[in-house]
Amino acid sequence: MSKRPASSSTPAKSKRTKTSSGQKTSPGQTRLDTFFASSHHDQQPSSSKPTNPMVPKIHKGSPEIIDVDLLGDPVIPSSETEVKVAKETPIPRSLTSPVKFIQVKVAAADALPPSYATLSADCATFDPETYELPSSLEIPYSFLAHALSTVCATRSRITILDTLSNAFRVILTRHSQSLLPAIYLLSNTMSPPYSSLELNIGPSVISQAIQHVSGLTPSALRKLYNNFGDIGDVAFAAKSNTRTLIPHPPLLVSFVYKTMYKIATSHGQGAAKQKQKLVETLLVAAKGEESRFLARTLSQNLRVGAVRTSLLTALARCFVLSSPCRGSTPCPYHVSAKTLATIQPLNGESKKGKNIDTARETLNAACKESETLVRKVFVQHPDYEHILGSLIEDGLEMLAQKVPLTVGIPIYPTLGTPIRSFEEVYERLKGLPFTAELKYDGQRAQIHAHRQVDGHIMVRLFSRHLEDMTSKYPDVVALVEEMCGRNTEIQSFIMDSEIVAINPADGSLKDFQTLASRARKDVRLGDVSADVGVFVFDLMYLNEQALLTHPFRSRRALLREHFPPFVPERKELARFQHVESCDSEDGKTSIEEFWESDVGRRDTEGLMVKLLDNETVKQQPQERVKPLLAVYDADKRTYAWMKLKKDYVNGLGDSLDLVPIGAWHGNGRKAQWWSPILLGVWDAKKGRVVGVCKCMSGFSDNFYKCNTVLPDIDTLLKALSERYNLSEDSELCSRVSEWNCETGGLKPDVYFKPQEVWEIRGAEVTVSPVSVAALGLVSSSKGLSLRFPRFVRIRQDKSVEQASDTVFLANMWRKQKGEKDLVDEGDELIDVDLRNSEVEESDASSDSG
Ligand code: ATP
Repeated sequence: MSKRPASSSTPAKSKRTKTSSGQKTSPGQTRLDTFFASSHHDQQPSSSKPTNPMVPKIHKGSPEIIDVDLLGDPVIPSSETEVKVAKETPIPRSLTSPVKFIQVKVAAADALPPSYATLSADCATFDPETYELPSSLEIPYSFLAHALSTVCATRSRITILDTLSNAFRVILTRHSQSLLPAIYLLSNTMSPPYSSLELNIGPSVISQAIQHVSGLTPSALRKLYNNFGDIGDVAFAAKSNTRTLIPHPPLLVSFVYKTMYKIATSHGQGAAKQKQKLVETLLVAAKGEESRFLARTLSQNLRVGAVRTSLLTALARCFVLSSPCRGSTPCPYHVSAKTLATIQPLNGESKKGKNIDTARETLNAACKESETLVRKVFVQHPDYEHILGSLIEDGLEMLAQKVPLTVGIPIYPTLGTPIRSFEEVYERLKGLPFTAELKYDGQRAQIHAHRQVDGHIMVRLFSRHLEDMTSKYPDVVALVEEMCGRNTEIQSFIMDSEIVAINPADGSLKDFQTLASRARKDVRLGDVSADVGVFVFDLMYLNEQALLTHPFRSRRALLREHFPPFVPERKELARFQHVESCDSEDGKTSIEEFWESDVGRRDTEGLMVKLLDNETVKQQPQERVKPLLAVYDADKRTYAWMKLKKDYVNGLGDSLDLVPIGAWHGNGRKAQWWSPILLGVWDAKKGRVVGVCKCMSGFSDNFYKCNTVLPDIDTLLKALSERYNLSEDSELCSRVSEWNCETGGLKPDVYFKPQEVWEIRGAEVTVSPVSVAALGLVSSSKGLSLRFPRFVRIRQDKSVEQASDTVFLANMWRKQKGEKDLVDEGDELIDVDLRNSEVEESDASSDSG
């Protein structure tokens, strides 16, 4: 596997493409429209000498900033300077213990970024106590930037996990209050997914801030941007040539997080200005790697291969290694200090997982137990604040008890495994009892309800991606309130359902586009534009009891018993129904008839096939017998839940969610419009969209309905061409590649800003010499493409980062060939031993020196 270039000293260059005019441009993640789209803002007289993009121009009028090259040696005050770090800001809910800001004495040496020892050392022998940090009572942001840059420079999971767990241990031992903001900054989030806190700053804010703090002219910045294609690399280069007269105090992790929080919560008049000021406050004080990662964080694309799974794994290891066992009896999550002390440094053999000493084996086992625990707790209660609070206070032993499944906090949903034929159901389940449910075409909704002491029913609805969508469905909230009002035995519950648009007259199903026409939030009960039915299919919690580990048959029985179908008299309320289903125990003929009748329906997508009881199965003759559990497996895709879409049967095993990133001029009748459209998959490793195929079919009436009601395909392409028009001031369409996309040999006439997701079906995934999608995953020289792609609908519920990714595409290709899936290093939860994989890479890319 190829390694990314180390980013500690020189910015990693992003891939560049040539424009039609031969000028080099780079597919930067963010389009820096205001400053980079044209150079007419540039007030500098143009020099006759050719300019080197690596040597930025300095803006004459810039306050406070000077070009050190012009002055000779950097000007550093000789005496200590007393600087106030920050004013007290409102403490966010997510900072458990408010961090007090203090007066910091800043030494002259603080003008330069501090250097740090390696963090990627073997975590089993790493000592956080002796790790040197610059003198500060808190954790400097430069330390986090150092960790990020180490993680960025490798694809080795072992190095990433070592770096993160060592960094966490240093923070935990020195200033544990900084651990939560550090995790948020490392995960490029600011709060739990259900509390929708977003920075909401445009690319122009960041580019202006870089310009102000570096003194560069807009055209000099544009050159840097064209050279690097990444806003972080631009910030790094822009700032590396500037020094401030008075050194700024070091940025602290807590201060950076709080400032981000302040940016996210700035609303109303003057908010734009305030945000701009806050961004500049951060960038002006940033040194070295800090600038790169701050700019990337601000632009919401950290470009780091450390995802949720790695963070949780590293966190678990951190607490195994740095937190003492609190119980009187030995627990599976800890290793005694004596055992730890006898762990031998890794050698060639043990790095490959062979001849590991027994002390390390004991540590590996404890880490594995705690990783499983921490991940399990997180998917049932995804809140770092609660998890960290409990880990710090009570250790790993009490975590599951202290951070339980909670009404009001969404669970990561269980997921369906795609299968291609009904016969596969029988093959997979080997005659075990299952149920086949209709697969409704609506929006998944996790419904939480709790009767409060005053009798009020608290209701919350969460989406498939855990966003709070309570205000989108006041009719469902009112339905739940009414149901709980009628049945006073119900104290609390969590259920899983699909909300579907219906005809209020007879309850018949309407298509997904009707539902999509509903506003996303703040809908008022009287103003509901699309009536809905709630088709409930699972119950995870009832009256203070978690049901996740109960087999589906018993969860379903409780659901049916306590929540019968209900059609409220008040017409403005949603209806409550159970999903239509057929059990295998009714006989094969009934099941087949159910499938046949479903295939004939236009308003459903296929079937969801669910195992009813906990069983053991042998998937392949040579395989061991494995348990197949009918539990509610949060965030897991197993064969206990299978999705059989009608379209799969003759085509691919699943649809893909792809991003339109470019187009060609149409021919003949379509000469005025864009057709075909270039679609891309998300590449999580590269943090960008990569072109996969050209799509020109499937644009039926459905497409229009998402925008305006338009009659035919011609009008659709017209609407699309209007949205992505090529005017001077277009924000979405450009002749040159201005956004962070890679198109390989697919060279469209125009490029689109990646900003929407389309569901696409296709006949087959094929290896392609022109595509660079999933390059390296199935072949070292060829990528993957899709044959006969067909537009199905716009996925309004998905962001670009949630589009189908390259690993998914590669697995689809492998599945077609009857091969096993690749291990996804991304967001899938997988168990990896401390030292049993990717050893060569770890060796080569380790920065331990
Ligand atoms: P996934 O959720 O599996 O990642 P996805 O979001 O692309 O994929 P689909 O491939 O359409 O969605 O299939 C799963 C979805 O089907 C569920 O998330 C749920 O919203 C919907 N669904 C409809 N009917 C049912 C049902 N009876 N049981 C479970 N899910 C159902």
